[in-house]
Amino acid sequence: MKIDYNILEAAKRPEPTEENLGFGKVFTPHMFIMEWEKGDGWKNARIQPFQNLSLSPASTVFHYAQEIFEGMKAYRQEGDRIVLFRPTMNTARMNRSAVRMAMPEIPEDFHLEAIKRLVDLDRDYVPHEFGNTLYLRPTMIGDSLTLGASTAQRFIYYLILSPSGAYYPRGLSPTRLKVEERYVRAVKGGVGASKTGGNYAASFKATADAAAAGFDQVVWLDGKENRFVQEAGAMNLMFMIDGKLMTGALDGAILPGVTRDSVLQIVRDMDIEVIETEIDINDIKKWAKEGKLTEAFGTGTAAAISPIGEIHYDGEAIIPGDGQIGKMAQHLYDTLLGTQYGKIADRYGWIEEVPVYEDR
Ligand SMILES: *Cc1c(COP(=O)(O)O)cnc(C)c1O
Repeated sequence: MKIDYNILEAAKRPEPTEENLGFGKVFTPHMFIMEWEKGDGWKNARIQPFQNLSLSPASTVFHYAQEIFEGMKAYRQEGDRIVLFRPTMNTARMNRSAVRMAMPEIPEDFHLEAIKRLVDLDRDYVPHEFGNTLYLRPTMIGDSLTLGASTAQRFIYYLILSPSGAYYPRGLSPTRLKVEERYVRAVKGGVGASKTGGNYAASFKATADAAAAGFDQVVWLDGKENRFVQEAGAMNLMFMIDGKLMTGALDGAILPGVTRDSVLQIVRDMDIEVIETEIDINDIKKWAKEGKLTEAFGTGTAAAISPIGEIHYDGEAIIPGDGQIGKMAQHLYDTLLGTQYGKIADRYGWIEEVPVYEDR
């Protein structure tokens, strides 16, 4: 399928100043969009000015939350090389989310080309400062024009780009988390492993309550026994215990993070044992008391690594190590960002350059 460039009217927007960019607040001048219709498949692939969508109030997405998305970043390396980090992990994961949510898959090569073409066109908007990035948000919604409660017959895929600030503008700092003991995010057999908007809608109440109580995020427990840790907000959760790295196994309720996968590879290559298993929060508490829990941190595209200084559970504070940034967290943060910004060698082949398309 050919991608049309309908960009004649796109006003060039001023490049945002890089101070106080925040996250997801400003967008580049263009977007990619295409539609899927039963019988036709994907069609009308085009790059056009960033603009509002016009949807029927009956559209499926508004009533039944048939929606999936992805989150990834473009980085500016030296010599104005614009690169992506393991983008095929995201295109593959989006298709897995699509299958679970009864939505159409996108041919991966085509999806990657669409991503690269849009980033190429708006490459001036990839921030220059170390830590700042261009955040990419691929999105798909169901758009049937009927209230029938079944999978849509028509879908819209679009991609928007947002110059965003560093997650830690003043350097890494430890976070305070609260174990959520009442609400759950996901259960096995549910949609926890899919990046679908409803997971977020269902988490806002717990997150807002935790924030009101002075915490940065919640730790989710499993929905059946309410004791196995799943994730920290929208990050995968890792613990250093007795010199080994432990994280929740991908059991269908945990989102398979690209950062999680990358961290596990780096750690295995350090000859450190990685254990993917069910992790009981009561064991974490016990290991902390015994001095075995030396570090805890979250992993995700937004922050890369987020060191955890405290986990509040059952009226007590669990403090990993000395509550400061652990050695492993710092090493992983430096390795990931170093690779992404081209400061250190890309030994795993994780970096993909965005080419300059001459035919646009
Ligand atoms: C996106 C996401 C993650 C992190 O995945 P990355 O691919 O590392 O960014 C973790 N948990 C949830 C719930 C997520 O939505």
